[in-house]
Amino acid sequence: MEGIARALGVPVKDVIEAPKRTGNYNGMSDSEIKKGLKVGEKLVLKNGKVMTEEEAKGVDWARVGKSIGNFFLLPLKKGYEFLSGLFGPKTSDYFTKVPITNVPEGGSADINNRLDKGKGWAPYGEQNDDKYAAPHFADYLARVIWGWYRKYPNYPMYINDISRPGGGEFPPHVTHRTGESVDIKFFTKDGKLHPEYPNYYNNPYYDRKLTEEFIIFAIKNAPQGYEVSEIFFNDIIIVNDLEGKYTNSSGENILRRSSGHDNHIHLKYRKISN
Ligand SMILES: [Zn+2]
Repeated sequence: MEGIARALGVPVKDVIEAPKRTGNYNGMSDSEIKKGLKVGEKLVLKNGKVMTEEEAKGVDWARVGKSIGNFFLLPLKKGYEFLSGLFGPKTSDYFTKVPITNVPEGGSADINNRLDKGKGWAPYGEQNDDKYAAPHFADYLARVIWGWYRKYPNYPMYINDISRPGGGEFPPHVTHRTGESVDIKFFTKDGKLHPEYPNYYNNPYYDRKLTEEFIIFAIKNAPQGYEVSEIFFNDIIIVNDLEGKYTNSSGENILRRSSGHDNHIHLKYRKISN
């Protein structure tokens, strides 16, 4: 931390203050932040001000570009400096871009980021070419998977449906059409899937505390300008616990109960409209 500050010619407190302004580090002590930074927060220096990647994207969104991919290229021309050793995951560490030859009705050619590699997750359920994400959602999900892996390497995210190639209808879902939704298994005490107990309420391995922590982690990891708009999961204890604490830009509780969500967490992401 001190070395970074010296190299940049800014006070240490400026380096600490940048992550403090983001949700992820809310309420953390300086030493916890230092630890968090070591595991890979991306910081950016622009015009002498240290910013997190989210903040820089929020501040400069129109000029920086639409995805983290562009963000890496353009800042170099625009006088940004990156702090060495603090790089997080790249979307391409998790997703492969696959050309979509037939765009389905209601879909889009850019729902072509297929989740198919990287550490910290594993597929579960029926695998039917069902892991295609829109670019902004791929950026977000890569960051969540990687961040969770760094915290809990033995508790991977088990992931089933995102969207079909190019999006569009995806029965039996009524959502999962725009490459901005994902189904994730609730978490267990030993990090294993235990498919013989599909529902949280009769699964002896179900870990309520870790599942709740994950839900909060996922909500807080949305960068500026985006949000987790809804999470469906039916454990009433967690739903009650988070009620009124985490709401979306429409004023709704993000975590809600919804039929069919005893056996997994459904998460939907979106750009916040102004
Ligand atoms: Zn779902």
